[in-house]
Amino acid sequence: MKDAMPAVCIDRADFDSVIKALAGDGYNVVGPVLREGAIIYDEISGVSDLPEGWGDEQEAGTYRTVKRNDKALFGHNSGQQAWKKFLYPSRERLWSAQGDNAEFKIEPNAETPPKYAFVGVHACDLRAIEIQDIVFMNPETADPRYGKRREGAFIVAVNCAQSAKTCFCAAMGTGPRAESGFDLSLTEIIEANAHYFVATVGSARGETLMQKIKSRPATDADLQAAATRTENAQKQQVRSLDREGVKELLFSSYSDAHWDKIAERCLSCANCTMVCPTCFCSKTEDTTDLSGNHADRWRLWDSCFTVDFSYIHGGSIRKQVASRYRQWMTHKLASWIDQFGTSGCVGCGRCITWCPVGIDITEEAKVFREEKMDPRLRGDDEVVKGTKQ
Ligand code: SF4
Ligand code: SF4
Repeated sequence: MKDAMPAVCIDRADFDSVIKALAGDGYNVVGPVLREGAIIYDEISGVSDLPEGWGDEQEAGTYRTVKRNDKALFGHNSGQQAWKKFLYPSRERLWSAQGDNAEFKIEPNAETPPKYAFVGVHACDLRAIEIQDIVFMNPETADPRYGKRREGAFIVAVNCAQSAKTCFCAAMGTGPRAESGFDLSLTEIIEANAHYFVATVGSARGETLMQKIKSRPATDADLQAAATRTENAQKQQVRSLDREGVKELLFSSYSDAHWDKIAERCLSCANCTMVCPTCFCSKTEDTTDLSGNHADRWRLWDSCFTVDFSYIHGGSIRKQVASRYRQWMTHKLASWIDQFGTSGCVGCGRCITWCPVGIDITEEAKVFREEKMDPRLRGDDEVVKGTKQ
C-alpha cells in the first residue's frame, strides 16, 4: 500500500453509510447486536441494529448487559461469541458421498463461502483471528474453506474505550488498541456535544471504502481523544497474567497437586473452550440418509474437556478432570508457543466470565507461580507423582 491515509473523523450521523457501503460492495455485514440479554454477533443492515446505549458487566462466572448513560454503539466488551463462529463454523459439511449400485462418488463441499465484513472487532479478537490463521492457513494443515472466508473478510476494528473486569489484553500484549490486521479501525468518541469516530485506514480496501464515506481530517485533539479512550480502557484492567517464563512454569508443574484443587471445582463443561476465540479442536461425524445411498461427513467443534476427545484405541488418555484442565491451560499458555510460535491466549477474559464456577486462568497461573517461588505452598506430600489420567 502507498503512504497510509491520514486519520479521519466520521460523524455518528454518517456512520450508517459505512455499513451500507460494505453491504453495497457485496459483503455479508456482521456486527454486535443485543439479543436475549447478551451482546452477540449477527448480520446487521444498518446502525439501528447495533446495541446503542448498551454495555456489559462481567466478573468470573457473571455476565449481564447494562444500560449506559450515553448512546455508544460499541460500549461493550467481548461477549460469549467470537468471530470464529463465522470463519470456522461450529458445524460444517466437509464432503458428501453419493452411491448407486454401480459406483460411489465423493464430492467435496462446493458451497461458496460467504464474503464477510466484520464490524466491531476488538484488538484481542483481531489477534485471535491471526492465531487461527496460523492454524488453518498453514500450508501443511491448510483448511481451504477457512482460507477463502478469511481472505475475503473485511475487518472494521474498534478500539476499546472500556474494559470488563475479566479483560487482560494489556498483559497479553494484544490490546486494547488494534495496531494492525484491519482494513479500517475506529475509536468511538462521545463528548458533551459530539459523537464521532476517529478512523484509521489499514489497507487499500479500507482506503477504497473510505472514499465513499463522508469524513473530515482528524485534528491533533481528535487523535488525543482517541488515545485517551484506549489508555483509560487499559487502566481499568484489574486482571493480569505474567507471561515471563509461563511456558517453563507450566511444563514444570505437570505433577503439581494444584491441578486436583482446580478439578474439585471444574465441571468439565467445556464452556471455556467453546467461548475461547483461539480454541480450534474439532471432531468428525458421518450421517447417512435412510436409503443408504447418501452420506455426509461433518466437522463439529469439540473440546479437550470431553472424555471422548482423547479416546485412542480402547480408552481415553485423559480420564480425570484434573488432566483435562491441565491439558487446556498448558496448551493455551505453554505448548501453543512451541506449536505455533505464539501464546494461545489473547486475554479476552471470556473463559473467566463464562465458566459457571468462575475458574480464572489468571488466578490459576498465579498459584503455580507463587508455589514455585515458595516451595512450602507446593503441598508436595499431596503431589501425585507420575501421569494423571
Ligand atoms: S474451567 Fe470452567 S468452563 Fe472450563 S470446563 Fe471447567 S467448569 Fe467448565
Ligand atoms: S484462554 Fe480465556 S482469556 Fe485466553 S483467549 Fe481463550 S477465552 Fe480468552
